[in-house]
Amino acid sequence: MNVAAYARLLPDITADNQPFWDGCAAGELRLQTCGECGTHRFPEAPVCPRCLSRACVWQAVSGTGTLWSWITMHQKYFPAFADEVPYRVAYIKLTEGPFMVGALVGSQDGPEPEPDQPVRAVFGPDATGRHVVRFAVQPSMERKVTAR
Ligand SMILES: [Zn+2]
Repeated sequence: MNVAAYARLLPDITADNQPFWDGCAAGELRLQTCGECGTHRFPEAPVCPRCLSRACVWQAVSGTGTLWSWITMHQKYFPAFADEVPYRVAYIKLTEGPFMVGALVGSQDGPEPEPDQPVRAVFGPDATGRHVVRFAVQPSMERKVTAR
């Protein structure tokens, strides 16, 4: 990995998103949750997208979700990841509702994932040492039934 090119892609850690990054370091996915209606949101925002309340708390959530969409990158579009191809990037629908883009780990050598396949958040340090969230594909419910 080209660490310098990768580091330029990382979002800044600010007072507004610090709880998210603290959660990654602690091995849990933390989302803003509306203090009025309970709606979870990502990325962080000053008001609830549902009721416009400014009241919010940060909560650890399940870290589970499903694959909404994904792409396997074969082209070297980003210098940071030139030596990582092929790799998969996914659009995840979190169990709590918000969507999140993330790397799919451990799947690029396996079979093609399926739409709505379960995923779970996994945490670990990236090339710069910052703890980040990635997603691991889980066996689908249909596969579990078939395996019996
Ligand atoms: Zn709300």
